[in-house]
Amino acid sequence: MVENIVGILGGTGLGEALSEQLSGAESVKPRTPFGKPSGEVLLGNIGSNRVAFLNRHGSGHKLSPSEIPYRANIFALKELGVRTVISSGAVGSLNEQIVPGDLVLVDQFIDKSYKREGSFFEGFGAVHCEMSEPTCSRVRGILGNKAEQIGVLTHSKGTYVCMEGPQFSTRAESLMHRFWGADLIGMTAMPEAKLAREAQMCYALVALVSDYDCWRPRKEGEDKQSLLEEIISNMEKATENCLRLIKNVLTNEKGLVFSECQCRKSLDLAVWTDQNQIDTADKEKLKILFE
Ligand SMILES: [Zn+2]
Repeated sequence: MVENIVGILGGTGLGEALSEQLSGAESVKPRTPFGKPSGEVLLGNIGSNRVAFLNRHGSGHKLSPSEIPYRANIFALKELGVRTVISSGAVGSLNEQIVPGDLVLVDQFIDKSYKREGSFFEGFGAVHCEMSEPTCSRVRGILGNKAEQIGVLTHSKGTYVCMEGPQFSTRAESLMHRFWGADLIGMTAMPEAKLAREAQMCYALVALVSDYDCWRPRKEGEDKQSLLEEIISNMEKATENCLRLIKNVLTNEKGLVFSECQCRKSLDLAVWTDQNQIDTADKEKLKILFE
């Protein structure tokens, strides 16, 4: 049975707070052709929405951004019936106007990650998905309207550079990312967003701004301890606001799954390999992505 589930990808704090809102919660341990996802998936209901939550970093924040099993995460959600993903993650700001503690509904990406498995279709054939608009404008619109209604300061767009990490940028890199026109820097949105597109799901990302990246001169005399305290307090504010926003959307919005959205047809013209050349077992293995 295919259910129209809304998937939430995020960190530990978000999951704990959301799980308290879930009625009839149960956890499942999916297995996929791409291995096990980051952890158990929590299933339940919020308002009229069926929701699946997955903690991207696993229990106890065990997985670094390079170690996250992105393919297994997205595949597991698709198999469970998720058709819309609302993701969240921490970022640094590259834009003076985007202040630490704010939320941003990301609309564009620059992908600098290089150690991660970035496609479901390796060995399957040549599959080229359109990525010019990498996040779903419908889901972004709903999140933006709701944020305005409930008074949560949220930027309606922003370009996110995904770096491999785990170290943060050098100052020269940070200045270069600004020069590229990027607004945010983070380590986890890619290849997550690309895989969601390959899985024909609507995908939106709420970025939680923890600090200004190192391009911006620090306050004079600011020590490491006070900087860390400031980052933690910005993250608490952003996480609280993100939770309010996501809870409000899930509780009050009925239509979060759009069967007619372009995101849901991303494989329509994407397979360039002759169907006769594609292995039957591979077709069977990835069948769910085409649904
Ligand atoms: Zn969409």
